[in-house]
Amino acid sequence: MLNLRHVVCPHCAATNRIPVDKPASGAKCGACHQALFDGHPAAVDAATFEKHRRNNDIPVLLDVWAPWCGPCRAMAPMFAHAARELEPDVRLIKLNADEEPRVSSELGVASIPALFLLRGGRVVAQTAGAMDAKRRPGCARSLPRRRDMAASTAREPRILFKIKERLT
Ligand code: ZN
Repeated sequence: MLNLRHVVCPHCAATNRIPVDKPASGAKCGACHQALFDGHPAAVDAATFEKHRRNNDIPVLLDVWAPWCGPCRAMAPMFAHAARELEPDVRLIKLNADEEPRVSSELGVASIPALFLLRGGRVVAQTAGAMDAKRRPGCARSLPRRRDMAASTAREPRILFKIKERLT
């Protein structure tokens, strides 16, 4: 049996099968022929998020953000840096909460930026809950409030470290 893992293309969302024993960093998408890993977080909408969530064998790190959210913009360079560091072991994606309110509400996002680590389609770690609820909340405008969710703050670098710990 060939040892293959499924990797969703960040450009066209096609599912590719990559041999486990070969370096994935140089792999190209069979459908659109672009690099499967280019060191940048991929922007997703509801449909492509679903494909990344369901079809990736590698863990997926999702950043839920919005253009009006200052802490989100402050975290963007760190998230981009994490993409360069974590690929090709992890797929990093970004979802605009304003454009896909249904997805962010299904994920229970109470404030942004919110990070989710998904494995096999399931959320295995997230920023909210790991954070101290008494600290300054992040941006909550137009997002559904949830009392049981702690607010995420500008402490994302630590979260990225925690996520890295979980992956090793
Ligand atoms: Zn592609």
